[in-house]
Amino acid sequence: MISEQEARQYVLDRCSVGKVVELPIGEAVGCVLAAAVVAAEDVPPFVNTAVDGYAVRAADVADAPVRLSVVGEVAAGGFTDRVLGTGEAIRIMTGAPMPTGADAAVMVEDTERLDGGGVLVKKAVQHGASVRGVGEDVRVGTELFAAGTVVRPAVAGVLASVNARRVGVYPRLNVAVLSTGDELVDDGSALHPGQIRESNKTMLLPLIAQAGCEPIDLGVVRDDEAKLEAVLRTAASSFDAIITSGGVSMGEYDVVKAVLSRIADMRWMQISIKPAKPFAFGLLTAGDRRVPVFGLPGNPVSSMVSFELFARPALRKMMGHTDLDRPTVLAVADDGLPRRPDGRTAYMRVAGAFGADGRYHVASVGAQGSHQLAATSLADALAIVPDGNGIEPGGSVATLLLSIA
Ligand code: AMP
Ligand code: MG
Repeated sequence: MISEQEARQYVLDRCSVGKVVELPIGEAVGCVLAAAVVAAEDVPPFVNTAVDGYAVRAADVADAPVRLSVVGEVAAGGFTDRVLGTGEAIRIMTGAPMPTGADAAVMVEDTERLDGGGVLVKKAVQHGASVRGVGEDVRVGTELFAAGTVVRPAVAGVLASVNARRVGVYPRLNVAVLSTGDELVDDGSALHPGQIRESNKTMLLPLIAQAGCEPIDLGVVRDDEAKLEAVLRTAASSFDAIITSGGVSMGEYDVVKAVLSRIADMRWMQISIKPAKPFAFGLLTAGDRRVPVFGLPGNPVSSMVSFELFARPALRKMMGHTDLDRPTVLAVADDGLPRRPDGRTAYMRVAGAFGADGRYHVASVGAQGSHQLAATSLADALAIVPDGNGIEPGGSVATLLLSIA
């Protein structure tokens, strides 16, 4: 058996970032910026009002209440060339440019419209009150985002605000998924003796999507070497990574092992973790492409844990992320997490919540067998329980939060 660290490093060392692409902002959301973005424009681009109300000279309203004559109106998107004189006010809407001569805005709530074209300003305002200056949000020429920044929705909004219509990012990966095994049924038909329902790719496809990739469903491939080879070779020439499940352990009919050993540069691993001990990783060459292949174990819980620990960080690295892992917190195992020594680190599936003490409290979701996906499906975290007899009630345990990217 090798350590999880060794397996992880082996995988990460062989996965590199993709070629930079230029995408329209909307399509770049979720991707990582390949280069810094410098603001080409000021935001806001002109001096404007932060409130609906009246543009005034602060000196005129210092002794409020005062009466001013209303000499114009300007809406957002509008403009007035009327210069504001002493004793005058201009009705103005949020976002509208401040008229020349005005140096403050009074909220409409602090005014009263008078008959005969006047307004009563009931409150004094400071010079500059409710006025937004040019570049208060973004100054032209400043570096807005460093390379490596994830284009989150608000980042996309900022890019739009400075008219960066297209940005250079690392592309979203197209990741092919296939399940292997003669026993698997995925078309809803009646189960014949020895058959089971396919569940792994149904789970892996959305996990891949949640990791920010484009998942491609290659279906269930029978334990047939020629078929499997054809599917894998086609996948390698079309997609950025391939994820298989099943056939990587010690089974007699593990055609995945037979085929991948022959056509790809694979490493077959036994990792000192539980579940997900068997795992394979390698590179499949197709023309000038070397496509990572992740061979996840077939047991559904193992498949999930293996994806989380090895495939997900690698896919993130390929998409330019520097933060590869889910966050880990030191949680409290209120009822303890007992286990038996076996030379492996257990990734126990737990459900957790933050308590009034500010700490994350976890409890086992129940059945911890690698074939028992039903219990695991209710987990939102993996408690990392070191080899030994487990965690005492109330003890601390490092816990990987699955619900946070
Ligand atoms: P294997 O890794 O192929 O030896 O499979 C280990 C266990 O996982 C066996 O019980 C398989 O039937 C089961 N298994 C393999 N692939 C899947 C799948 N896609 N969905 C559900 N169970 C699976
Ligand atoms: Mg199998």
